Amino acid sequence: MSRLLIIGCGGVAQVAIHKCCQNSEVFTEICIASKTKSKCDAIKAELEGKTKTVITTAEIDAMDVAKTVELIKSYKPDAVLNVALPYQDLAIMDACLLANVHYIDTANYEPEDTEEPEWKAAYEKRCKEKGFSALFDYSYQWAYAEKYEKAGLTALLGTGFDPGVTSVFAAYAKKHYFDRIDTIDILDCNGGDHGYPFATNFNPEINLREVSAPGSYLENGKWVEIPAMSIKREYNFKEVGQKDMYLLHHEELEALGRNMPEVKRIRFFMTFGQSYLTHMNCLENVGMLSTTPINYEGKEIVPIQFLKALLPDPASLGPRTKGKTNIGCIFTGVKDGKEKSIYIYNICDHEACYKEVGSQAVSYTTGVPAMIGSMLVLNGLWRKPGVYTTDEFDPDPYMEALNKWGLPWQVEENPVLVP
Ligand code: NDP
Repeated sequence: MSRLLIIGCGGVAQVAIHKCCQNSEVFTEICIASKTKSKCDAIKAELEGKTKTVITTAEIDAMDVAKTVELIKSYKPDAVLNVALPYQDLAIMDACLLANVHYIDTANYEPEDTEEPEWKAAYEKRCKEKGFSALFDYSYQWAYAEKYEKAGLTALLGTGFDPGVTSVFAAYAKKHYFDRIDTIDILDCNGGDHGYPFATNFNPEINLREVSAPGSYLENGKWVEIPAMSIKREYNFKEVGQKDMYLLHHEELEALGRNMPEVKRIRFFMTFGQSYLTHMNCLENVGMLSTTPINYEGKEIVPIQFLKALLPDPASLGPRTKGKTNIGCIFTGVKDGKEKSIYIYNICDHEACYKEVGSQAVSYTTGVPAMIGSMLVLNGLWRKPGVYTTDEFDPDPYMEALNKWGLPWQVEENPVLVP
């Protein structure tokens, strides 16, 4: 019996909305609010009559804190799920504090304008102090911990698949399989084929910024940074096959490094095909991935935003994508004095996702955990004042919900390890 305000109505939001509507016992009412209200109205029209969840819609620019507070106060939700863009995280966290409501998201904050002098100075200081140069990091959102604690509110950060489920897998491995975890390798494999020479599976701006950045991993509590795509491994993924994968920086490394400091090495790998990499390198070389505005014939444009307008909308990939994703974590460590290793993973079929909710598996694997995280905050199982990532709660109810809501997982003992 609760009310959720969902901000954003893109690829991930559309899955989260479908899943909330399948789970009407928990989500009795939802309000879908986004920049373009017609998108919210379209999904409301699609779902109404097929769900008991009462759906309303609203237009909101979530960068406008006062307007967001006004919307929250008039709709009176029990929590806000932010599935807009990472640029809006801090504004929505501020609005939730001002309107006294719990906050949930799927990606950590990064600024839209990376040339803004105050942000840039703080960023350069952080690069030197911490040793990784990704444009996103948790410090901005962790800085809200005291405010959320004092307000008695929960902020649940990063409840997508990675981050999100991968960190729950880590908490589950720690609780049930190991006395001590020594290494974690997170492997994100997308074996899907959409038939385009180049397209991104989620927001192109966020995706390309992440992939074109230097890679990094944690070793003995220290960041090791490497040039983008310079560590490559091959892995044979169940139900997908042999794939090339590359070491990337990824946000759960930071949270796991903080919350599980005993783990000696934490790495993240993602699979990419050669065509994707060739296109991305070329676009980067000609400056199309830049976030710095340029003046073109009297109009200011941001190259990567212009590129986004040219690329296929990730939401349109659903009907074309065939194949499966396989995302999971390989853990090594010690139990009862003996060395052991396990692999916890989920396999998701693009076509089955499309049949169920009209989206491909990358949106599906993020939207389902966004619903599950929201459900656990709403039903109180994952509620404690402060700002937390998904590895900081009891993993059991989340793992149970993954099986129930479409992302069943498996545990393999003694898997092939990544060299
Ligand atoms: P999309 O670009 O498809 O959707 C973003 C949505 O946010 C759009 O509906 C957009 O509205 C809306 N929006 C943008 N700016 C504002 C604003 N100022 N106010 C209100 N609404 C706004 O992105 P995705 O659905 O692919 O991604 C959503 C989030 O999920 C992102 O933060 C992404 O980083 C994260 N993600 C997390 C993953 C994980 O595993 N943890 C994996 C994949 C994504 P409009 O359409 O009108 O522009």
